[in-house]
Amino acid sequence: MNEAIADCCADPSHKLLSIEQGLARILDAVPIIRDREQLPLRSALDRVLAETVVSAVDVPSFANSAMDGYAIRHADCADGGDRTLTLVGESFAGRPFEGEVGAGQCVRIMTGAVMPAGADTVLMQEVVERDGDTIRFDAGKVKAGQHVRHAGEDTRAGQAVLEPGKILRPAELGLLASVGVGEIRVFRRLRVAFFSTGDELASVGTVLKTGQIYDSNRYALYGMLRKAGVECHDLGVIPDRREAVRDAFREAAAVADLVLTSGGVSVGEADFVTDTLQEMGEINFWRMAMKPGKPLAFGSLGGAVFFGLPGNPVSAMVTFYQFVLPAIRKMRGEQARDPLVIEARAANALKKAPGRAEFQRGILARTSGGGWEVSTTGLQGSHVLSSMSRANCFILLDADNAGVAEGETVKVQPFSDFL
Ligand code: AMP
Ligand code: MG
Repeated sequence: MNEAIADCCADPSHKLLSIEQGLARILDAVPIIRDREQLPLRSALDRVLAETVVSAVDVPSFANSAMDGYAIRHADCADGGDRTLTLVGESFAGRPFEGEVGAGQCVRIMTGAVMPAGADTVLMQEVVERDGDTIRFDAGKVKAGQHVRHAGEDTRAGQAVLEPGKILRPAELGLLASVGVGEIRVFRRLRVAFFSTGDELASVGTVLKTGQIYDSNRYALYGMLRKAGVECHDLGVIPDRREAVRDAFREAAAVADLVLTSGGVSVGEADFVTDTLQEMGEINFWRMAMKPGKPLAFGSLGGAVFFGLPGNPVSAMVTFYQFVLPAIRKMRGEQARDPLVIEARAANALKKAPGRAEFQRGILARTSGGGWEVSTTGLQGSHVLSSMSRANCFILLDADNAGVAEGETVKVQPFSDFL
Protein backbone atom coordinates (compact mmCIF):
# COMPACT_ATOMS: atom_id res chain seq x y z
CA MET A 1 0.00 0.00 0.00
CA ASN A 2 1.12 3.52 -0.83
CA GLU A 3 2.48 5.16 2.32
CA ALA A 4 0.66 8.44 1.92
CA ILE A 5 -2.59 6.54 1.58
CA ALA A 6 -1.83 4.38 4.58
CA ASP A 7 -1.20 7.52 6.62
CA CYS A 8 -4.49 8.96 5.63
CA CYS A 9 -6.26 5.85 6.93
CA ALA A 10 -4.37 5.63 10.16
CA ASP A 11 -5.05 9.22 11.09
CA PRO A 12 -8.68 10.32 10.80
CA SER A 13 -7.71 13.96 11.29
CA HIS A 14 -5.46 13.76 8.26
CA LYS A 15 -6.36 16.12 5.43
CA LEU A 16 -9.35 14.84 3.50
CA LEU A 17 -8.81 13.34 0.08
CA SER A 18 -10.21 15.36 -2.84
CA ILE A 19 -12.69 13.75 -5.20
CA GLU A 20 -10.24 13.95 -8.10
CA GLN A 21 -7.47 12.31 -6.06
CA GLY A 22 -9.84 9.63 -4.83
CA LEU A 23 -11.20 8.84 -8.27
CA ALA A 24 -7.75 8.78 -9.84
CA ARG A 25 -6.51 6.31 -7.22
CA ILE A 26 -9.57 4.14 -7.63
CA LEU A 27 -9.32 4.02 -11.42
CA ASP A 28 -5.62 3.32 -11.14
CA ALA A 29 -6.18 0.40 -8.78
CA VAL A 30 -9.12 -1.46 -10.34
CA PRO A 31 -8.44 -4.18 -12.92
CA ILE A 32 -10.19 -4.76 -16.21
CA ILE A 33 -11.98 -8.11 -16.14
CA ARG A 34 -11.01 -9.51 -19.53
CA ASP A 35 -12.90 -12.83 -19.61
CA ARG A 36 -14.93 -13.01 -22.78
CA GLU A 37 -17.94 -14.83 -24.13
CA GLN A 38 -19.57 -15.17 -27.52
CA LEU A 39 -23.20 -14.03 -27.79
CA PRO A 40 -25.87 -13.77 -30.45
CA LEU A 41 -26.32 -10.16 -31.48
CA ARG A 42 -29.55 -9.42 -29.59
CA SER A 43 -28.25 -10.84 -26.31
CA ALA A 44 -25.24 -8.55 -26.60
CA LEU A 45 -27.31 -5.37 -26.13
CA ASP A 46 -25.66 -3.07 -23.53
CA ARG A 47 -22.65 -5.37 -23.21
CA VAL A 48 -19.07 -4.26 -23.85
CA LEU A 49 -17.40 -5.33 -27.08
CA ALA A 50 -14.26 -7.44 -26.54
CA GLU A 51 -12.91 -7.60 -30.09
CA THR A 52 -12.20 -5.46 -33.12
CA VAL A 53 -14.92 -6.07 -35.69
CA VAL A 54 -13.70 -5.92 -39.28
CA SER A 55 -16.29 -5.75 -42.01
CA ALA A 56 -16.15 -8.55 -44.56
CA VAL A 57 -18.34 -6.62 -46.96
CA ASP A 58 -18.81 -3.20 -48.52
CA VAL A 59 -21.82 -1.34 -47.11
CA PRO A 60 -23.76 -0.70 -49.22
CA SER A 61 -22.55 -3.67 -51.24
CA PHE A 62 -23.80 -2.21 -54.55
CA ALA A 63 -24.46 1.25 -55.96
CA ASN A 64 -28.11 2.13 -55.37
CA SER A 65 -30.55 4.97 -55.54
CA ALA A 66 -31.03 7.44 -52.68
CA MET A 67 -34.40 8.57 -54.08
CA ASP A 68 -37.55 7.38 -55.72
CA GLY A 69 -37.27 8.54 -59.34
CA TYR A 70 -35.51 7.68 -62.60
CA ALA A 71 -32.03 6.31 -63.28
CA ILE A 72 -30.41 8.00 -66.29
CA ARG A 73 -27.09 8.49 -68.06
CA HIS A 74 -25.67 11.91 -67.28
CA ALA A 75 -24.27 12.03 -70.82
CA ASP A 76 -27.89 12.48 -71.93
CA CYS A 77 -28.00 15.85 -70.14
CA ALA A 78 -25.27 17.46 -72.25
CA ASP A 79 -25.97 21.08 -73.24
CA GLY A 80 -28.88 21.38 -70.77
CA GLY A 81 -32.40 22.32 -71.88
CA ASP A 82 -35.58 20.28 -72.07
CA ARG A 83 -34.89 16.59 -72.44
CA THR A 84 -37.07 13.55 -73.17
CA LEU A 85 -36.01 9.98 -72.36
CA THR A 86 -37.69 6.64 -72.97
CA LEU A 87 -38.57 4.39 -70.09
CA VAL A 88 -37.24 0.86 -70.62
CA GLY A 89 -37.86 -0.84 -67.28
CA GLU A 90 -37.91 -0.63 -63.51
CA SER A 91 -35.52 -1.34 -60.64
CA PHE A 92 -37.11 -1.93 -57.23
CA ALA A 93 -35.35 -2.58 -53.91
CA GLY A 94 -34.52 -6.28 -54.00
CA ARG A 95 -35.71 -6.60 -57.63
CA PRO A 96 -33.04 -5.15 -59.95
CA PHE A 97 -33.40 -4.21 -63.62
CA GLU A 98 -31.55 -6.87 -65.58
CA GLY A 99 -30.81 -4.94 -68.76
CA GLU A 100 -28.65 -1.96 -69.57
CA VAL A 101 -29.69 1.67 -69.92
CA GLY A 102 -28.69 2.94 -73.37
CA ALA A 103 -28.47 6.48 -74.76
CA GLY A 104 -31.84 8.25 -74.58
CA GLN A 105 -33.20 5.70 -72.11
CA CYS A 106 -34.11 5.65 -68.44
CA VAL A 107 -35.32 3.21 -65.78
CA ARG A 108 -37.90 3.81 -63.07
CA ILE A 109 -36.01 3.32 -59.77
CA MET A 110 -36.90 3.21 -56.06
CA THR A 111 -34.83 4.08 -53.00
CA GLY A 112 -32.31 1.32 -52.24
CA ALA A 113 -32.73 -0.34 -55.65
CA VAL A 114 -29.64 -1.35 -57.64
CA MET A 115 -28.39 1.25 -60.14
CA PRO A 116 -28.87 -0.40 -63.52
CA ALA A 117 -25.86 -0.93 -65.79
CA GLY A 118 -25.27 2.11 -67.95
CA ALA A 119 -26.98 4.57 -65.58
CA ASP A 120 -24.96 6.88 -63.31
CA THR A 121 -27.41 9.53 -62.11
CA VAL A 122 -30.87 9.65 -60.50
CA LEU A 123 -33.63 12.20 -61.07
CA MET A 124 -36.08 12.72 -58.23
CA GLN A 125 -39.55 11.88 -59.44
CA GLU A 126 -40.72 15.37 -58.36
CA VAL A 127 -38.62 17.07 -61.09
CA VAL A 128 -39.88 14.82 -63.86
CA GLU A 129 -43.00 14.98 -66.04
CA ARG A 130 -44.08 11.48 -66.92
CA ASP A 131 -46.14 10.73 -70.01
CA GLY A 132 -46.68 7.02 -70.61
CA ASP A 133 -43.29 5.58 -71.50
CA THR A 134 -41.43 8.87 -71.66
CA ILE A 135 -40.18 11.37 -69.10
CA ARG A 136 -39.37 15.07 -69.56
CA PHE A 137 -37.12 17.21 -67.38
CA ASP A 138 -34.78 20.21 -67.35
CA ALA A 139 -31.34 18.73 -68.15
CA GLY A 140 -29.57 21.95 -67.11
CA LYS A 141 -30.37 21.26 -63.47
CA VAL A 142 -28.95 17.73 -63.27
CA LYS A 143 -25.60 17.09 -61.57
CA ALA A 144 -23.56 14.05 -62.63
CA GLY A 145 -23.94 11.20 -60.13
CA GLN A 146 -26.63 12.89 -58.06
CA HIS A 147 -28.77 10.82 -55.64
CA VAL A 148 -26.59 7.73 -56.04
CA ARG A 149 -25.18 5.91 -53.00
CA HIS A 150 -21.92 4.24 -53.91
CA ALA A 151 -20.75 0.80 -52.90
CA GLY A 152 -18.65 0.97 -49.72
CA GLU A 153 -19.74 4.56 -48.99
CA ASP A 154 -20.72 3.71 -45.39
CA THR A 155 -18.20 0.94 -44.66
CA ARG A 156 -15.53 -0.71 -46.82
CA ALA A 157 -14.67 -4.39 -46.73
CA GLY A 158 -11.59 -4.86 -44.52
CA GLN A 159 -12.33 -1.74 -42.49
CA ALA A 160 -12.64 -1.90 -38.68
CA VAL A 161 -16.16 -0.85 -37.77
CA LEU A 162 -16.01 -1.21 -33.97
CA GLU A 163 -13.21 -1.36 -31.43
CA PRO A 164 -13.01 -3.19 -28.06
CA GLY A 165 -14.54 -1.23 -25.20
CA LYS A 166 -17.49 0.00 -27.21
CA ILE A 167 -20.85 -0.42 -25.49
CA LEU A 168 -23.24 -2.22 -27.79
CA ARG A 169 -26.21 0.12 -27.96
CA PRO A 170 -29.01 -0.09 -30.53
CA ALA A 171 -26.89 1.65 -33.21
CA GLU A 172 -24.08 -0.88 -32.74
CA LEU A 173 -26.47 -3.86 -33.00
CA GLY A 174 -27.73 -2.35 -36.26
CA LEU A 175 -24.22 -1.61 -37.50
CA LEU A 176 -23.05 -5.17 -36.75
CA ALA A 177 -26.08 -6.60 -38.54
CA SER A 178 -25.39 -4.29 -41.51
CA VAL A 179 -22.01 -5.98 -42.00
CA GLY A 180 -23.54 -9.42 -41.58
CA VAL A 181 -22.24 -10.21 -38.08
CA GLY A 182 -24.67 -12.40 -36.15
CA GLU A 183 -22.55 -13.33 -33.13
CA ILE A 184 -20.15 -11.19 -31.22
CA ARG A 185 -17.48 -11.51 -28.54
CA VAL A 186 -18.12 -9.43 -25.43
CA PHE A 187 -16.63 -9.20 -21.96
CA ARG A 188 -18.49 -11.36 -19.48
CA ARG A 189 -20.74 -9.57 -17.05
CA LEU A 190 -19.07 -8.13 -13.97
CA ARG A 191 -20.16 -9.95 -10.80
CA VAL A 192 -21.07 -7.64 -7.96
CA ALA A 193 -21.99 -8.82 -4.46
CA PHE A 194 -23.57 -6.32 -2.11
CA PHE A 195 -25.10 -6.19 1.32
CA SER A 196 -26.31 -3.72 3.90
CA THR A 197 -24.98 -3.57 7.43
CA GLY A 198 -26.90 -2.37 10.46
CA ASP A 199 -28.86 -3.79 13.41
CA GLU A 200 -31.56 -1.18 12.78
CA LEU A 201 -32.39 -2.45 9.30
CA ALA A 202 -35.66 -4.25 8.61
CA SER A 203 -36.59 -5.81 5.29
CA VAL A 204 -39.57 -4.54 3.33
CA GLY A 205 -42.64 -6.65 4.04
CA THR A 206 -42.04 -6.74 7.80
CA VAL A 207 -43.56 -4.41 10.41
CA LEU A 208 -41.09 -1.91 11.87
CA LYS A 209 -40.25 -2.21 15.56
CA THR A 210 -39.20 0.85 17.52
CA GLY A 211 -35.84 2.13 16.28
CA GLN A 212 -35.94 0.14 13.07
CA ILE A 213 -35.89 1.54 9.55
CA TYR A 214 -36.40 -0.18 6.24
CA ASP A 215 -33.28 -1.14 4.35
CA SER A 216 -33.54 1.13 1.33
CA ASN A 217 -29.90 1.07 0.22
CA ARG A 218 -30.07 -2.48 -1.02
CA TYR A 219 -32.87 -1.48 -3.38
CA ALA A 220 -31.23 1.70 -4.63
CA LEU A 221 -27.98 -0.25 -5.07
CA TYR A 222 -29.76 -3.01 -6.94
CA GLY A 223 -31.24 -0.41 -9.28
CA MET A 224 -27.96 1.36 -9.92
CA LEU A 225 -26.14 -1.92 -10.44
CA ARG A 226 -28.72 -3.27 -12.88
CA LYS A 227 -28.54 -0.04 -14.86
CA ALA A 228 -24.76 -0.42 -14.90
CA GLY A 229 -25.18 -3.78 -16.63
CA VAL A 230 -23.63 -6.01 -13.99
CA GLU A 231 -24.67 -9.35 -12.49
CA CYS A 232 -26.07 -8.71 -8.98
CA HIS A 233 -25.58 -10.96 -5.95
CA ASP A 234 -27.74 -9.58 -3.15
CA LEU A 235 -26.41 -10.94 0.16
CA GLY A 236 -29.05 -9.30 2.33
CA VAL A 237 -28.67 -7.47 5.63
CA ILE A 238 -25.72 -8.21 7.92
CA PRO A 239 -26.05 -7.39 11.62
CA ASP A 240 -23.44 -5.25 13.39
CA ARG A 241 -21.44 -8.18 14.74
CA ARG A 242 -17.79 -8.65 13.83
CA GLU A 243 -18.20 -12.36 13.06
CA ALA A 244 -21.26 -11.76 10.86
CA VAL A 245 -19.41 -9.12 8.88
CA ARG A 246 -16.45 -11.49 8.45
CA ASP A 247 -18.70 -14.28 7.17
CA ALA A 248 -20.40 -11.94 4.73
CA PHE A 249 -17.05 -10.70 3.45
CA ARG A 250 -15.89 -14.27 2.87
CA GLU A 251 -19.07 -15.19 1.00
CA ALA A 252 -18.96 -12.02 -1.11
CA ALA A 253 -15.30 -12.32 -2.05
CA ALA A 254 -15.88 -15.89 -3.21
CA VAL A 255 -18.51 -14.95 -5.81
CA ALA A 256 -17.70 -11.43 -6.91
CA ASP A 257 -15.32 -9.23 -8.87
CA LEU A 258 -16.59 -6.30 -6.86
CA VAL A 259 -18.00 -6.18 -3.32
CA LEU A 260 -20.17 -3.30 -2.12
CA THR A 261 -21.42 -2.69 1.38
CA SER A 262 -23.40 0.17 2.81
CA GLY A 263 -23.17 1.43 6.37
CA GLY A 264 -20.63 0.76 9.09
CA VAL A 265 -17.78 2.81 7.63
CA SER A 266 -17.96 5.71 10.08
CA VAL A 267 -16.09 5.70 13.37
CA GLY A 268 -19.08 4.60 15.44
CA GLU A 269 -18.72 1.73 17.92
CA ALA A 270 -20.71 -0.64 15.73
CA ASP A 271 -18.87 0.18 12.52
CA PHE A 272 -16.99 -3.00 11.67
CA VAL A 273 -16.64 -2.69 7.93
CA THR A 274 -13.38 -0.75 7.84
CA ASP A 275 -11.81 -2.85 10.61
CA THR A 276 -12.77 -6.10 8.96
CA LEU A 277 -11.49 -4.93 5.59
CA GLN A 278 -8.19 -4.02 7.21
CA GLU A 279 -8.02 -7.45 8.79
CA MET A 280 -9.12 -9.60 5.83
CA GLY A 281 -8.06 -7.54 2.85
CA GLU A 282 -6.48 -4.23 2.08
CA ILE A 283 -7.91 -0.79 2.69
CA ASN A 284 -6.78 2.33 0.87
CA PHE A 285 -8.52 5.34 2.34
CA TRP A 286 -11.73 6.31 3.92
CA ARG A 287 -12.36 10.03 4.18
CA MET A 288 -13.37 12.03 1.14
CA ALA A 289 -13.64 15.83 0.95
CA MET A 290 -17.21 15.65 -0.24
CA LYS A 291 -20.73 16.11 0.97
CA PRO A 292 -22.65 13.98 1.23
CA GLY A 293 -20.54 10.87 1.47
CA LYS A 294 -17.42 11.66 3.51
CA PRO A 295 -16.65 8.16 4.80
CA LEU A 296 -15.75 5.81 1.97
CA ALA A 297 -13.76 2.62 2.27
CA PHE A 298 -11.95 1.40 -0.81
CA GLY A 299 -9.67 -1.55 -1.09
CA SER A 300 -9.54 -5.21 -1.98
CA LEU A 301 -10.88 -8.38 -0.50
CA GLY A 302 -9.32 -11.55 -1.87
CA GLY A 303 -9.43 -11.09 -5.63
CA ALA A 304 -12.32 -8.63 -5.45
CA VAL A 305 -12.38 -4.86 -5.45
CA PHE A 306 -14.11 -3.51 -2.36
CA PHE A 307 -16.16 -0.37 -1.75
CA GLY A 308 -17.66 0.36 1.67
CA LEU A 309 -20.28 3.03 1.00
CA PRO A 310 -21.70 5.25 3.72
CA GLY A 311 -25.02 4.19 5.22
CA ASN A 312 -26.98 7.37 4.70
CA PRO A 313 -29.08 6.71 1.61
CA VAL A 314 -28.18 9.88 -0.33
CA SER A 315 -24.49 9.46 0.56
CA ALA A 316 -24.60 5.88 -0.66
CA MET A 317 -26.08 6.93 -4.00
CA VAL A 318 -23.75 9.90 -4.48
CA THR A 319 -20.63 7.87 -3.73
CA PHE A 320 -21.87 5.08 -5.97
CA TYR A 321 -22.35 7.42 -8.91
CA GLN A 322 -19.10 9.33 -8.40
CA PHE A 323 -16.73 6.45 -7.56
CA VAL A 324 -18.25 3.00 -7.98
CA LEU A 325 -19.83 3.59 -11.38
CA PRO A 326 -16.59 4.85 -12.99
CA ALA A 327 -14.82 1.84 -11.44
CA ILE A 328 -17.46 -0.54 -12.81
CA ARG A 329 -17.18 1.04 -16.23
CA LYS A 330 -13.45 0.47 -16.27
CA MET A 331 -13.68 -3.05 -14.84
CA ARG A 332 -16.24 -4.16 -17.45
CA GLY A 333 -13.91 -3.01 -20.20
CA GLU A 334 -15.63 0.20 -21.33
CA GLN A 335 -13.66 2.87 -23.16
CA ALA A 336 -13.03 5.84 -20.86
CA ARG A 337 -15.42 8.76 -21.16
CA ASP A 338 -15.73 12.20 -19.63
CA PRO A 339 -18.58 12.89 -17.24
CA LEU A 340 -21.49 14.84 -18.72
CA VAL A 341 -21.29 18.25 -17.06
CA ILE A 342 -23.15 21.31 -18.32
CA GLU A 343 -23.62 24.85 -17.07
CA ALA A 344 -26.91 26.19 -15.83
CA ARG A 345 -28.23 29.32 -14.20
CA ALA A 346 -29.03 28.90 -10.50
CA ALA A 347 -32.74 29.61 -10.14
CA ASN A 348 -32.27 30.12 -6.41
CA ALA A 349 -29.52 30.81 -3.93
CA LEU A 350 -27.63 27.71 -2.74
CA LYS A 351 -26.20 27.42 0.76
CA LYS A 352 -22.68 26.02 0.94
CA ALA A 353 -19.78 26.28 3.37
CA PRO A 354 -16.22 26.13 2.02
CA GLY A 355 -14.26 22.96 2.75
CA ARG A 356 -15.81 19.99 0.99
CA ALA A 357 -17.14 19.61 -2.54
CA GLU A 358 -20.91 19.20 -2.57
CA PHE A 359 -23.31 17.24 -4.71
CA GLN A 360 -26.56 19.06 -4.14
CA ARG A 361 -29.69 17.69 -5.67
CA GLY A 362 -31.17 19.83 -8.41
CA ILE A 363 -33.98 20.04 -10.90
CA LEU A 364 -32.71 21.04 -14.32
CA ALA A 365 -35.20 22.64 -16.70
CA ARG A 366 -35.24 24.63 -19.93
CA THR A 367 -35.88 28.34 -19.59
CA SER A 368 -38.23 30.12 -22.00
CA GLY A 369 -35.09 31.72 -23.49
CA GLY A 370 -33.73 28.26 -24.41
CA GLY A 371 -30.99 28.06 -21.75
CA TRP A 372 -30.77 25.72 -18.76
CA GLU A 373 -31.80 26.61 -15.24
CA VAL A 374 -31.40 24.55 -12.10
CA SER A 375 -33.38 24.81 -8.89
CA THR A 376 -32.70 23.09 -5.60
CA THR A 377 -34.83 20.20 -4.36
CA GLY A 378 -34.84 21.83 -0.92
CA LEU A 379 -33.63 19.88 2.14
CA GLN A 380 -30.16 18.55 1.39
CA GLY A 381 -29.67 16.17 4.34
CA SER A 382 -27.87 12.94 3.45
CA HIS A 383 -30.86 10.99 4.82
CA VAL A 384 -33.44 12.80 2.63
CA LEU A 385 -33.84 10.19 -0.11
CA SER A 386 -36.88 11.95 -1.55
CA SER A 387 -34.48 14.68 -2.70
CA MET A 388 -32.81 12.15 -5.01
CA SER A 389 -36.15 11.13 -6.39
CA ARG A 390 -37.28 14.70 -7.08
CA ALA A 391 -33.92 15.59 -8.63
CA ASN A 392 -32.77 14.98 -12.18
CA CYS A 393 -29.20 16.21 -11.67
CA PHE A 394 -26.43 16.92 -9.21
CA ILE A 395 -25.41 20.53 -8.74
CA LEU A 396 -21.61 20.33 -8.49
CA LEU A 397 -20.14 22.83 -6.05
CA ASP A 398 -16.33 22.90 -5.70
CA ALA A 399 -14.70 22.51 -2.29
CA ASP A 400 -13.87 26.21 -1.91
CA ASN A 401 -17.28 27.44 -3.06
CA ALA A 402 -18.88 29.51 -0.30
CA GLY A 403 -22.44 29.65 -1.55
CA VAL A 404 -24.22 30.59 -4.75
CA ALA A 405 -26.40 33.62 -5.40
CA GLU A 406 -29.50 33.40 -7.56
CA GLY A 407 -28.58 33.95 -11.20
CA GLU A 408 -25.01 32.67 -10.93
CA THR A 409 -23.80 29.98 -13.29
CA VAL A 410 -23.23 26.54 -11.74
CA LYS A 411 -22.05 23.18 -13.02
CA VAL A 412 -24.63 20.44 -13.24
CA GLN A 413 -24.35 16.69 -13.88
CA PRO A 414 -27.61 15.31 -15.32
CA PHE A 415 -28.63 11.90 -13.99
CA SER A 416 -28.85 10.75 -17.60
CA ASP A 417 -25.04 10.47 -17.35
CA PHE A 418 -25.57 7.44 -15.10
CA LEU A 419 -27.75 5.41 -17.47
P1 AMP B 1 -23.82 4.05 9.31
O1 AMP B 1 -22.95 4.43 8.15
O2 AMP B 1 -23.96 2.58 9.48
O3 AMP B 1 -23.40 4.73 10.57
O4 AMP B 1 -25.27 4.61 8.96
C1 AMP B 1 -25.50 5.98 8.77
C2 AMP B 1 -26.98 6.24 8.66
O5 AMP B 1 -27.51 5.58 7.51
C3 AMP B 1 -27.80 5.74 9.83
O6 AMP B 1 -28.84 6.66 10.07
C4 AMP B 1 -28.34 4.42 9.35
O7 AMP B 1 -29.52 4.04 10.00
C5 AMP B 1 -28.59 4.71 7.89
N1 AMP B 1 -28.52 3.49 7.10
C6 AMP B 1 -27.51 2.61 7.13
N2 AMP B 1 -27.74 1.59 6.27
C7 AMP B 1 -28.94 1.85 5.69
C8 AMP B 1 -29.71 1.16 4.71
N3 AMP B 1 -29.30 0.00 4.18
N4 AMP B 1 -30.89 1.71 4.33
C9 AMP B 1 -31.29 2.88 4.87
N5 AMP B 1 -30.59 3.58 5.79
C10 AMP B 1 -29.42 3.09 6.20
MG1 MG C 1 -24.60 1.24 10.82
